[in-house]
Amino acid sequence: MEKVFKIAVLKGDGIGPEVVDAALKVLDKVAELFNVKFEYKEGLIGGIAIDETGDPLPEETLKLCLESDAVLLGAVGGPKWDNLPQDKKPERGLLRIRKALNLYANLRPVKVFDALLGSSPLKPEVAKGTDLMVVRELVSGIYYGEPRGIYEEDGKRCGRNTMKYCEDEIARVARKAFEIARKRRKKLTSVDKANVLDVSALWREVVNEIAKEYPDVELEHLYVDNAAMQLVRRPSTFDVIVTGNIFGDILSDEAGVIPGSLGMLPSASIGDKYALYEPVHGSAPDIAGQGIANPIATILSVAMMLKYSFNLDKAAELVEKAVEETLNQGYRTADIYSEGTIKVNTQEMTEKIIENLERLYRELSF
Ligand code: NAD
Repeated sequence: MEKVFKIAVLKGDGIGPEVVDAALKVLDKVAELFNVKFEYKEGLIGGIAIDETGDPLPEETLKLCLESDAVLLGAVGGPKWDNLPQDKKPERGLLRIRKALNLYANLRPVKVFDALLGSSPLKPEVAKGTDLMVVRELVSGIYYGEPRGIYEEDGKRCGRNTMKYCEDEIARVARKAFEIARKRRKKLTSVDKANVLDVSALWREVVNEIAKEYPDVELEHLYVDNAAMQLVRRPSTFDVIVTGNIFGDILSDEAGVIPGSLGMLPSASIGDKYALYEPVHGSAPDIAGQGIANPIATILSVAMMLKYSFNLDKAAELVEKAVEETLNQGYRTADIYSEGTIKVNTQEMTEKIIENLERLYRELSF
């Protein structure tokens, strides 16, 4: 019998609906080829949810996500809602959904496609072959630790935050990272500041303990300052990087510029029960409604969904290959266009990827 996967679809604002529609077309093709069924149910989030319900994350949307096997999100925000108070902004909907679904591991793959080597700010010979994944702890660490705040001490203003991790929080994200490394090239780099921070010393100790459960994965430790340097010196030597919230925030953005375009970067945020997939980019209000957005980040996000939520590894691999093939054939949306390549819009890029998906499926006889 055909398996049915329930997907909550939150298109959001700006180019969100355009890129999500593109990704759903790819999923439809996967369903047809692999004899599975995806059931899509749409919910409101972000600015459009504020306009229609007064809340960036309506109760109904949250309920829909809690009843789904995976969540696909476009993007939220835009100038129309920029002047609302902090707790009413579209972006607040995103923070709330991550917390409500307890999505403690954020996965950001960074892959440099040969066809786009010229777009990287790094020298082509350095960027070539980069294919890494940053796994960032997302719901704890210094962004959430108490005590925090600006206060007065000896008549002076002082500010503080607390970087705190308990062993269970470290262990669960470390296990996710080891599992992911197992599905890739079996190398894990744990990043900390254990030479200075006590919380990092515990991080390292716990990661070493968890490593015993994964003897097939090679583990190394790097201090965060060194990791920041090595990422631009030898990015292609990394496989999976696991780190805490603040280090991961910075390193994933640093790594994200290596491929040279925001329109290419997918992401996933996963917990024990739920998972949310979304492109790294925002709602791009400057190009919304023109049909020219690059759908690849969202299409690669659904490839992650196939792999990490539905265990459809072959289908995921095929979608990634179809994207790569389409780039090799010279098709480019405006954001990655260069002379000598073929400029296409969102719909054309999606159609080319689907064509390649079908052809590769036949050729590779999955
Ligand atoms: P952005 O990522 O939306 O856009 C930055 C630049 O990259 C723009 O020039 C845009 O046109 C381009 N770009 C982004 N994605 C693209 C794509 N798929 N194809 C082609 N070009 C693309 O960042 P921003 O302009 O700083 O923010 C715009 C809005 O999005 C703001 O309201 C911001 O708060 C929100 N935002 C939301 C998310 C999210 O939903 N996760 C993330 C970042 C920003």
